[in-house]
This record gives sequence, structure tokens and C-alpha cells, in this order.
Amino acid sequence: MTERRSIPLTRPLIGEAEAEASRRPIMSGWLTQGPEVAAFEQEFAAYTGAAHATAVSNCTTALHLALLVLGVGSGDEVITVSHSYVATANVVRYCNATPVFVDIDPATSNMDASQIEAAITPRTKAILCVHQMGLPCDLAAILAVAKAHGLPVVEDAACASGSEISWNGQWEKVGKAHGDIACFSFHPRKVITTGDGGMITTNNPDYDRQFRLLRQHGMSVNDRVRHSANQVIFEEHAVIGYNYRMTDVQAAIGREQLKRLPGIVEARRHLGSRYVQLLADLPGFTMPHEPEWARTNWQSFWVRLPEHLDQRTVMQGMLDRGVATRRGIMNAHREVPYQREGGYNLPESERAQDRNIILPLYPQMTDEEQDYVVAMLSEVCA
Ligand SMILES: *Cc1c(COP(=O)(O)O)cnc(C)c1O
Repeated sequence: MTERRSIPLTRPLIGEAEAEASRRPIMSGWLTQGPEVAAFEQEFAAYTGAAHATAVSNCTTALHLALLVLGVGSGDEVITVSHSYVATANVVRYCNATPVFVDIDPATSNMDASQIEAAITPRTKAILCVHQMGLPCDLAAILAVAKAHGLPVVEDAACASGSEISWNGQWEKVGKAHGDIACFSFHPRKVITTGDGGMITTNNPDYDRQFRLLRQHGMSVNDRVRHSANQVIFEEHAVIGYNYRMTDVQAAIGREQLKRLPGIVEARRHLGSRYVQLLADLPGFTMPHEPEWARTNWQSFWVRLPEHLDQRTVMQGMLDRGVATRRGIMNAHREVPYQREGGYNLPESERAQDRNIILPLYPQMTDEEQDYVVAMLSEVCA
């Protein structure tokens, strides 16, 4: 255990299969909004069990479109968490609406559903919940409140490709769109990657139709239809849309990544349960709680440090021993654009950022590398 290592926080599982697949659009000359995008959408819908999937440029643009089709606009409020990557709050602001932050349950780092009701006002237009670090949030409780108030639910599933939730006694994939719309990310920090990329799933055909319009400047005719038509077609642009397209090179890579996803989740779950066992011996540490109705993909694994340990000192100690870590997930409300007079009352969100550290976890990680991480943590914290 004395040999110096270099253990990254994460590493995408990607290689020859993706390199080979990316040749297809390059050699065919059809580089965007073509057959690879269409196939990736169908395959992702089949994987999650959703009726519809629309590929977009990243999860931020996916979330933006989700809020737009729900009609979120100027003066509206969207109930969400601050304890998330800043994109979650930013998309609410893109719509000129205001994010209303509720605190998290420290056991899961997910939205505390019992606090939603008190945050609802006549301006509330939607609930934007997050499956943080891949761990499903308490959708049953969130949807119950939403239903009682007639509010739509968007799931920020950026990290949750391959995570599962028990629904009416069955294990179902996150993104079957238990809420109204779910949004995924394929950034390299997530469990599968297309470099950048995103996917929107829904069971609502009208939402899906709007996503397809809005991702491509509101254009009434898609490229595949026009390309295969034997009559001249003139397109219209009836609404203001965006360029939020995914390319066929990304989609070809994504299709290979999707094939790997079950194996990636299995490897991550193996390592996640090993962390739980190995860290149980360290006194004063707490770990994420996986509810019995949730199967996380462990996109990230965190531990909460005991009170007497300083976060930065522990992280530096790990880095000195060749182990990369990150502090707990950020809080949007602490960033300049969200600061306000009187501040916010989000103590658990702040504690999770200040007291948790995220440990290395990637599918290629060996048990022996993981043993090293735990040994170093134990040494640093002694
Ligand atoms: C990564 C992430 C996003 C943004 O995803 P991009 O694909 O990078 O736009 C949004 N929400 C959460 C919770 C994330 O972790």
C-alpha cells in the first residue's frame, strides 16, 4: 500500500466500438439529424420504456425545452433544489422565471418532498426535481404533491441513465417518464457519454412534437423527411426555436454507449456496495442511503466527513496520495446570480456541499484500487 498511485475521480468507458461506430456518419456524409440520431432516440426510448425520446445537444438544452413546453415564462416560479449542478437553476432563469429552492434530505442528497407544499404559491408553474448523482429522488411523494396541486413534474435525470425505481411493484428505468418529462446528460462526467449530448423522454406525444420543432429552429419539416421526399417541400418556421441538435457522430457513439450501459451500471453497483462495506469501519463517517425502492447507478459516491475533520485538508491529503476527490455538490444559491438580500434557509444543502466529499468510482476501477482509496482515506483521517 506504499506505492504511489494516480486514481482519477472518473473515467469514461469508451473505445474501439465507439471509434468504429463514428465512422458510419463520417463515411456516409450524413452528419446531423440523420439516421443515427433517429436510431439512438428509438433505442433510448426502448431502454427506458418511454413512449418518446428526443435527442438534443446536452441536458441543459433538454431542461430548457422541457420548461418551455410546459409554458414556464416571465414571472413564474419553479420549485427545485439549489443543491445541484448550476444548470438546474439556470434553465429556470432562461425562461425568465424564478427558481424556488427547497432543502434536501441529507440521507439521500435529494429534494425533501415534505418541504414542497410550503413552497407552492399561485405563481408556481412546475416542479423540477433532480435524481442527484444517479440516486432516484422520492418521485412517489413528489408526484403526490404535484398531482394535488395540478403541477407538472420535470425530472432532471442528467446523472441517472440506468438507475431504477420500484413502481407499482416493478423495477422501472428512470426516464420512463414517471413525471411529465425526464432529461438526461451524456457529458463525460455522467455514466454514458457522447462528448456532449442530451435526451428528453416523455409519454406525451404533443410535448415530443414540440421538442422536435424547438430543437431545430421551429422548422416544420425535418431533414429526413425532406431528404426522402420525391416532391419539393417548402418548410415553415412557425415558432421561435433553437439550434439544440445532436449530431449523427454523437448519436452513433451514444448507440454503442447504450449497449454498454447495463454492464456499466453493474460494475458501478458492485463498487458502490463495496464502498458501503469498506467504509462502514471508519468511525463517524456517513454514506448515502439507498431507499428500498431505488437502485442507483452510483454516478457519484459521497461520504460525509465527521465534524472534527476539515474538508479541504482531507481532500489535499488524498490528492497528495494520488487520489482525486471532489467536494459535495454545489449550491446554486451561493453563486453570484442567485444571491439575494436576506439569504436562503437551506442548511442541509449547505452542509452537504461543505461536509461531503465525492470519491473515485468508474467502471474500470479494480477492487484493489478501491481498497487503496479507502486505505488512504483512513490514513488521512486518522
Ligand atoms: C450535468 C448536469 C446537468 C447539465 O448537463 P449538461 O449535459 O452538461 O448540460 C444538469 N443537471 C444535473 C443534475 C447535472 O448533473
